[in-house]
Amino acid sequence: MAGVYVHIPFCKSRCIYCDFFSTTSLPLREKYVEMLCHEIKIRSQGLSAEERRIETIYLGGGTPSQLSIEQLRRIFDAVFDCFQVSEEAEITMEVNPDDVNATYLQGLKQLPVNRLSFGIQTFNDERLRFIRRRHTAQEAINVVHDCQAAGYRNISIDLMFGFPGETLEEWQSDIETALSLNVQHISAYSLMYEEGTALTRMLEAGEIEEIDEELSLQMYGTLVERLKKAGFEHYEISNFARPDRRSRHNSSYWHGIPYFGFGAGAHSYDGHARTWNANDLLIYIEGVETGSLATEGETLSMEQKYDECVMVGLRTCEGVDLQHIESVFGKQYLSYLLENAQPHLDSGKLCIEQNWMHLTEKGIYTSNDIISDLMRV
Ligand code: SF4
Repeated sequence: MAGVYVHIPFCKSRCIYCDFFSTTSLPLREKYVEMLCHEIKIRSQGLSAEERRIETIYLGGGTPSQLSIEQLRRIFDAVFDCFQVSEEAEITMEVNPDDVNATYLQGLKQLPVNRLSFGIQTFNDERLRFIRRRHTAQEAINVVHDCQAAGYRNISIDLMFGFPGETLEEWQSDIETALSLNVQHISAYSLMYEEGTALTRMLEAGEIEEIDEELSLQMYGTLVERLKKAGFEHYEISNFARPDRRSRHNSSYWHGIPYFGFGAGAHSYDGHARTWNANDLLIYIEGVETGSLATEGETLSMEQKYDECVMVGLRTCEGVDLQHIESVFGKQYLSYLLENAQPHLDSGKLCIEQNWMHLTEKGIYTSNDIISDLMRV
């Protein structure tokens, strides 16, 4: 086993675009932490020494920084008691800028966290209010500086582009502000209209308009070009890192490495099967308390494994190892892949180098279509 993911589903308020599993039922935090520690203990019982070896821990949400330092400490204690965490482990915590003050930061420093991931999204205050984030641009900038001053040398920020009415110049300004922060990692996603979100309801009611696709592609192109010029490695479609600062935890997902997921709605993968806890806080709490954790799962068929391997592989700069496809899935799968990739190889959107197939710069813009052409299911 290589990674532990811990889901903290609490948010002070809901952002209008969000379809992650999260809740504003903050009074349940204490009970949740108690159950989470219990789940970690129960599920780690009976694991072999090899299975207990952990290289990465990731606290995601929701908003992990909605927990107190004492609650976070208890979660880390449970993980460290139940697993053998490598001395070089990457330990990431997602943090919302408005949760961190000097006292909280002092507390954070006492925890084993060595990588912080800030959900900043944009440095435009009007847009931050529009998506209902609770911080301002200046607060986000200050908190990153404070964390750097406190000694954090591995900081990631999340950005979004393609807001209704956003111009290319405004997005360029966000990129420049992000670069001026001297962070080690940047994730950037185009704004998505997910079903059931307040944002999508606004779109459907005609209150806002999606930006056009051409502009969205231009924004993405500008991002890639500017971050590469600034020395970032574009190692996954939406992720950029300074040398040696890739997210090791997320990279392990992309390379099919097993992980444990703890907490409501968290997914786990053992290399063959995927299981997930109920994404309902009360059902989760009751399940752990009564010793009958509500989980669902599926054993991946060969075709699903192939699909996943190709899909996540092609999102990374290395691409898909063709030798791996042949040795794990057989010649028939390799032929299927090569046959379906041929039109994209011919058009220069895919290429093969040293037996690895990857998207070219041209192909990245239509990656979803290309990837879906190579799927089996
Ligand atoms: S803080 Fe994150 S998880 Fe919570 S509502 Fe906003 S985007 Fe969703």
